[in-house]
Amino acid sequence: MSEKSIFSKIMDGEIPSDILYQDEHFICIKDIAPQAPTHLLLIPRKPIPRIADATPEDQSLLGHLMLKAGEIARDLGVDEAFRLVINNGADAGQTVFHLHVHLLAQKKFKEGSLGMS
Ligand code: 5GP
Repeated sequence: MSEKSIFSKIMDGEIPSDILYQDEHFICIKDIAPQAPTHLLLIPRKPIPRIADATPEDQSLLGHLMLKAGEIARDLGVDEAFRLVINNGADAGQTVFHLHVHLLAQKKFKEGSLGMS
């Protein structure tokens, strides 16, 4: 069995982190190194390493994460402008191999820019 991800350790209380939102499917925490004034991570409890590893069985879980992202953005009052990002693979910037959605807000993103170079 592969080693537990840092996010699974947070879910299991082995690493401290304030959980802002959660249900039986996911947790939502603040990113430890925020790239925007609001930078949250929505993390499914199921440790899928990358979005490319998700299967049809994960369809409702992935939909749930998207819906929750919108709901959380509304709850925080940032729903007029936010960005959701999923990095897949090291070359795409993924550093934690436990699928997660970044929710970034309160920052003016460049039009048409996805931060690619
Ligand atoms: P990735 O680069 O894999 O798309 O995103 C991983 C994110 O997890 C990074 O933005 C990083 O700052 C964040 N992160 C890594 N370790 C921790 C941690 O222990 N606690 C929290 N809250 N965020 C973390």
